[in-house]
Amino acid sequence: MANILIVDDSRTSRKVLRKMIEDAGHTVVEECSNGEEGYLKYKELKPDLVTMDITMPKLDGLEALQLIIKSDEDAKVIMITAASQKEKMIQAIKYGASEFIAKPYDSEDVKQAINKVLKLQNT
Ligand SMILES: [Mg+2]
Repeated sequence: MANILIVDDSRTSRKVLRKMIEDAGHTVVEECSNGEEGYLKYKELKPDLVTMDITMPKLDGLEALQLIIKSDEDAKVIMITAASQKEKMIQAIKYGASEFIAKPYDSEDVKQAINKVLKLQNT
């Protein structure tokens, strides 16, 4: 089971994600509400995995992703994306995102994305 950092500026989204992550048997180590905080907390807590929203104040999800990968090339970051963000998804792949969860998502989507990334990590 994994230690997971949630980065999302929406309090409601964080709450929903936390519930889904915990129901899947994982631990949420921290919740951050912008990319800058997410990056700093990543360095401090070194979670196994990050769920990263894209549209956020201060640093957005793509900028935070780049900083995290720069500080730890093995970082596992799952981007939370909307259908309208195809261009940003392509950028995120280039920057080293491990996986995507498309909005609107359900608990099964979240569980599967996490399992996929954790399996990759174990091989
Ligand atoms: Mg957002």
